[in-house]
Amino acid sequence: MPTQAKQQNQSISGFEPYQAVKGEEYMGKPMRAHFTKILNKWKQDLMQEVDRTVDHMKDEAANFPDPADRASQEEEFSLELRARDRERKLIKKIDKTLQLIEDEEYGWCESCGVEIGVKRLEARPTADMCVDCKTLAEIKEKQVGK
Ligand SMILES: [Zn+2]
Repeated sequence: MPTQAKQQNQSISGFEPYQAVKGEEYMGKPMRAHFTKILNKWKQDLMQEVDRTVDHMKDEAANFPDPADRASQEEEFSLELRARDRERKLIKKIDKTLQLIEDEEYGWCESCGVEIGVKRLEARPTADMCVDCKTLAEIKEKQVGK
């Protein structure tokens, strides 16, 4: 192999953007493998993050005899816990997405059925709607969610 160009514009969690072969089938086997790898790596990172926080909280919880210190500490913990809660939800979503890939249903808009597209999926691997439907859904959510 001669000179391999160094790819600097890396995508999520250090993955290089997918290079489709000309005429390649959308969400064929290589593409599915690519996104499975991204999602698994992402999930691993999230799970490590959750573990780290739990350890960190165990270490620090005992160190604040002063009630005022403890109060601010608890506040910090509850913020962290909320962040962890979001991560756990994200992990669930990643699992759901991995299942979609396995079922070969990944990559199409849940709402209108068009191809979501490799670029959008690399930026947001758990996306289940195309940009148009997502935008519409967000507008509707804002109108209802009050
Ligand atoms: Zn759509």
